[in-house]
Amino acid sequence: MFDKILVANRGEIALRVIRAAREMGIHTVAVHSTADADAMHVRMADESVCIGPPSSSESYLSIPAIIAACEVTGAQAIHPGYGFLSENANFVQIVEDHGLTFIGPTAEHIRVMGDKITAKDTMKALGVPCVPGSDGGVPTLDEARRLGGEIGYPVIIKATAGGGGRGMKVAETAADMEKAFMTARSESKAAFGNDEVYIEKYLQKPRHIEIQVFGDGKGRAVHLGERDCSLQRRHQKVLEEAPGPCITEEERARIGKICAEAVAAINYTGAGTIEFLYEDGEFYFIEMNTRLQVEHPVTEAIFGVDLVQEQIRVAEGHPMSFTQEDLVINGHAIEVRINAEKLPDFAPRPGRITQFHAPGGLGVRIDSALYDGYTIPPYYDSLIGKLIVHGRDRNAALTRLSRALGELIVDGVDTTVPLFHALLQEPDIQSGNYNIHWLEKWLATNLQG
Ligand code: ADP
Repeated sequence: MFDKILVANRGEIALRVIRAAREMGIHTVAVHSTADADAMHVRMADESVCIGPPSSSESYLSIPAIIAACEVTGAQAIHPGYGFLSENANFVQIVEDHGLTFIGPTAEHIRVMGDKITAKDTMKALGVPCVPGSDGGVPTLDEARRLGGEIGYPVIIKATAGGGGRGMKVAETAADMEKAFMTARSESKAAFGNDEVYIEKYLQKPRHIEIQVFGDGKGRAVHLGERDCSLQRRHQKVLEEAPGPCITEEERARIGKICAEAVAAINYTGAGTIEFLYEDGEFYFIEMNTRLQVEHPVTEAIFGVDLVQEQIRVAEGHPMSFTQEDLVINGHAIEVRINAEKLPDFAPRPGRITQFHAPGGLGVRIDSALYDGYTIPPYYDSLIGKLIVHGRDRNAALTRLSRALGELIVDGVDTTVPLFHALLQEPDIQSGNYNIHWLEKWLATNLQG
């Protein structure tokens, strides 16, 4: 059992982990930059350590500072949250070399899934369906042209080291290939220091469906169904729901079983997400995230489990507290991401919160580090809260979302809340009829400057 864990993150996800640990009787250590001295995660943890100046690279991404904070406080394990060091295999290795426990998968699993080509090869070999495309990296334009013809246009050129939607370019026809290939390579080189790219068939109207998996590191694993995260802007998720409005029980059982068996076969530890594009009844693997996701609460709501406590339990070497048979879906859950951004261009709007009032009542959860008088610093991402609602079915969840958004007050900065009020009026959102391009099209016609 751990007595004390360090949370290597900030904002709502740091609170999420601190809350889970406290219920398990585990002490928590918050780390923070000088810009976050007044942040809620610092107030809520049992102890805190300042690890550097505002810039993430000198604080939340500083491996020596975080390891030193563990040594000073006697924390035995580190929860990375999402983002920052959560998918950094080198960090995991260093944590282990210092005799500490990383609450998450092994460095090796992170490395394999962090390289998109290796990840795809691994998943393919494990029987997971993949998007048709190149076998590995595509080194030359000639090869890219040959593959484009073979796979059939449109195709998408993606960075092997990619993430956050960067380094991706679509070639609609053969004539676009040169420009798309060269741009994807140079963007990838600039963003990730690696210009290797690969090619996939570009799916025209897919939904983004991801399967939550969980393994005990000893060959047992389960799936916790899917989340539909198709509402995206610039490849960034905006609203997520579970179960997926278009997924049948048979489809869930089939793809869930494939995913659970795949992660069991590699002795995967802890929470993971296998992301798919879904079109015309087929699933196509795109990537695996080896960490807790921002949108994990919708899965927690419908299955009645605490994924963070489960992560901690498994990291301590205990078996999982549920089996596949225990995992039964109850109702429907929706999450909206509340960002400090100004519409219509979603420009970040850090600043002082003059009033914050969280909605409440049955089936409403708010994960946020905001408080009255808090000043959102300009150095980090603009997610300031997540509103998650749970209802007996999708309609009940939508009604509850509308009611809860109406109670929410965030004054002092602009937020994405008005976007959700508007989306809830849309028949396609009400019926669940949207794909990954829906929101971009809607924004272009409804939210022009
Ligand atoms: P990243 O790691 O940068 O987020 P992903 O591979 O997860 O990249 O893709 C992000 C998003 O890009 C997907 O959710 C989808 O919207 C779009 N996308 C990726 N691959 C394809 C494809 N083959 N066809 C159509 N859209 C795609």
